[in-house]
Amino acid sequence: MTTTAPALTATARQTAADLAAVREQWGDLLAAIARPPAPEWPPRRTQDRVQDEALPDAPAIGRLPLTLREHPAPLNLDALDAACQVERALFESCDALAARVQRPPRRLEVRREDPFRGSVPMWSGVDPADYNDPARWHLPTVRDIGPGNAAHAGSRAHGLHWAAVWLEGRALDEPAGDLFAPTPPALLDALAGVAAHARRTVERALQRDGRTVTIDTPCPWCAGRLTGRTMAGGEPSVSCATGEGCAAPVLLDRGRRTWTGAELVGLYVAMQAAKERDRGRTGA
Ligand SMILES: [Zn+2]
Repeated sequence: MTTTAPALTATARQTAADLAAVREQWGDLLAAIARPPAPEWPPRRTQDRVQDEALPDAPAIGRLPLTLREHPAPLNLDALDAACQVERALFESCDALAARVQRPPRRLEVRREDPFRGSVPMWSGVDPADYNDPARWHLPTVRDIGPGNAAHAGSRAHGLHWAAVWLEGRALDEPAGDLFAPTPPALLDALAGVAAHARRTVERALQRDGRTVTIDTPCPWCAGRLTGRTMAGGEPSVSCATGEGCAAPVLLDRGRRTWTGAELVGLYVAMQAAKERDRGRTGA
């Protein structure tokens, strides 16, 4: 069934897109925490593919939120800092929005008939069905949440993914009965800022933030200059400055040998092999 909702603002759409980008890349960021920090190029995703072959037993990351768990010796502190910062910002946005736009749980009253006094209240309290509505965001019951207090974490216990989905719903004013009031423009603007910053933080930590870098290592096939590019949210690529004369086994893109996707693994392996050869030549 389609209903005619008021047209979404560009801010609402951008906010939802930024939040979706954060949750879609969240698994990569969690995986990055458990790996040693990598050199700038090739981008982490490529190195992960290489490392995955070398380390088949890499530790699995659970879904417990970062702010609620211990971090025994994380290998990449930058990735951990970025993830903790993003997680906290999204959780706090959920708490703040819920406090403003979410209807408190309804109360129920059970009455009984008294032969002398008529209808008298027997029990009153929060309606459990309304309280447990899965669309509802539950605030933490303690102010300062640390490891070991997961029982009081409210909806935070479901992790960043759910927080991002919940915020997307509020940014887009998705209907949920009378549970939510429309998100006021000032709150949407604040959420837009949080979402954009969170996305930048995640993409910077994963080196996917639209940078162009000259790679220190020359092309393993022709010794030409290699340039790496990342597009925000897009696939990274590396191109060789030499042009058609380069014998690298990849296609030409605008006259240059260009590696993308799985080809970057081949380039990375060839660069490592070339470095090893150089190291052997200069002699240790
Ligand atoms: Zn080349």
